[in-house]
Amino acid sequence: MGRKLTGRLIVATHNLGKLREIRELVAPHGVDAVSAGDLGLPEPEETGTTFLANARLKAEAAAMAAKLPALADDSGICVAALDGAPGIYSARWGGPKKDFAAAMEKIEAELRERDCFEPQQRRAWFVSALSLVWPDGHVEEIEGRIDGTLVWPPRGDKGFGYDPMFLPDGHTRTFGEMTSEEKHGIPADGSQALSHRARAFQILEKSCF
Ligand code: IMP
Repeated sequence: MGRKLTGRLIVATHNLGKLREIRELVAPHGVDAVSAGDLGLPEPEETGTTFLANARLKAEAAAMAAKLPALADDSGICVAALDGAPGIYSARWGGPKKDFAAAMEKIEAELRERDCFEPQQRRAWFVSALSLVWPDGHVEEIEGRIDGTLVWPPRGDKGFGYDPMFLPDGHTRTFGEMTSEEKHGIPADGSQALSHRARAFQILEKSCF
């Protein structure tokens, strides 16, 4: 059982897609989520070598600056045939223009170069590491994961990032073809959520809300 979270929470992200998802996830618990961007808090450089290390350094910086609990997520997509790339560099593969159509093309080009055309050669997983840090230094950390395969061409115009290329196991539609509720909703019946971030949240919810 982790430490309980109440009141105001800083969401240490400058990514609007993630902020929206996290807000929707914490709202039912009466937690008021404010973004680090809205408070004008600086964004630390992501110098960690793991998803968790990067989440921790973002949450710590925000919690110390705002003197409030802060939650950070570091996430990305790992492709088995590419030895886990882009991994922690998923955002950077989008380049300064955050062009994820180009980033998906880059993954596809790398897979073709390795003759990976069959679904079993195109295994991938999304990871979401969550770090919740209190100003007194207390930390709660969790990782969520969803496995699937990469399709080409990308399908759907919902979601963000690599969603249109990712077909979660057991589904016929990509994340890009799903509504945000289908992708990251937390089932009321207690069954497992679908997205990596929602799965991480489900675990966090049990211990901290
Ligand atoms: P960071 O967590 O801000 O370092 O960036 C993670 C990057 O991974 C994002 O910019 C997206 O490109 C990608 N990513 C993370 N989660 C998702 C998701 O749920 N769908 C699609 N792309 C994602």
